[in-house]
Amino acid sequence: MKKDYFVSAIAFNGKIRAIATSTTHLVQEGCQRHQTLPTASAALGRTLTAGILFASNLKGEEKYTVRIAGDGPIGEIVIDANAFGQVRGYVHNSQVHFPANAKGKLDVARAVGTKGLISVVKSFGSEYNFTGQTPIISGEIAEDLASYLVNSEQIPSALALGVLVNPDGRIAASGGYLIQAMPGCDDATLTQMEEVIKLAKPISTLLFEGKTPEDVLKTLIPEKDLVFLGTKDISFRCRCSRERTESTLKLLGKDELLDMIKVQHGADVHCNFCSEHYQFTEEELKNIILQLDQKQH
Ligand SMILES: [Zn+2]
Repeated sequence: MKKDYFVSAIAFNGKIRAIATSTTHLVQEGCQRHQTLPTASAALGRTLTAGILFASNLKGEEKYTVRIAGDGPIGEIVIDANAFGQVRGYVHNSQVHFPANAKGKLDVARAVGTKGLISVVKSFGSEYNFTGQTPIISGEIAEDLASYLVNSEQIPSALALGVLVNPDGRIAASGGYLIQAMPGCDDATLTQMEEVIKLAKPISTLLFEGKTPEDVLKTLIPEKDLVFLGTKDISFRCRCSRERTESTLKLLGKDELLDMIKVQHGADVHCNFCSEHYQFTEEELKNIILQLDQKQH
């Protein structure tokens, strides 16, 4: 089984930064965890893929959180991606599916809605956050997030995202690319890139045909103008754990925990990001209370 990864490159003597990724396996995992129907799978998959591309030049503890809040039935889509090539995320309503749109594609815009807000938080460790907001323009996600990069981060950017879903609901191919102008990039190079991207085959088709992320960039940029910088493995990975969940329960305090014991005879804590359930029995909750009591004395 081929692994998911992204490749980064520069082109035209450093005027262009280009990243391409295949995310088929991580999108499959995300969709399986959230039991999404095909249109929701495409929306989640595109956003997870964008997260990988956005986070591709992060370092250390830096992290991107992307929130798409449209007026469509899918509700909020939230993902976060870090410098380690890990991404996680969810859609508010995973049970959204519509017939294909006029182009024969999964109707992501109908699921997301065409009005609403994109909010992005770029967090640089604990001290400093950059927050940007732009309106949704199409609901197709790639256009919306490219518009965020252009208008909020002021970087001329082209973003392509594609998720191909099999009739059985499994992800056949998923990936994307991000092309950005570096400072000093001239208009002629930008226009040339825009023309090439307009005519390019859909990214999901290229990946489905067996092309690698490197091949994808080679279809957009002449090989002689392209310098590959390196690749990174990527995955769907959540940072939740039983230990962290226990710490969260402790924060609720004794009264709340006693209430849980009385009403639910235990606790079932659900992680939004990865849909993992952490179950705590009455006995385990009593133990947590005991630890809280001991701390107080
Ligand atoms: Zn989780």
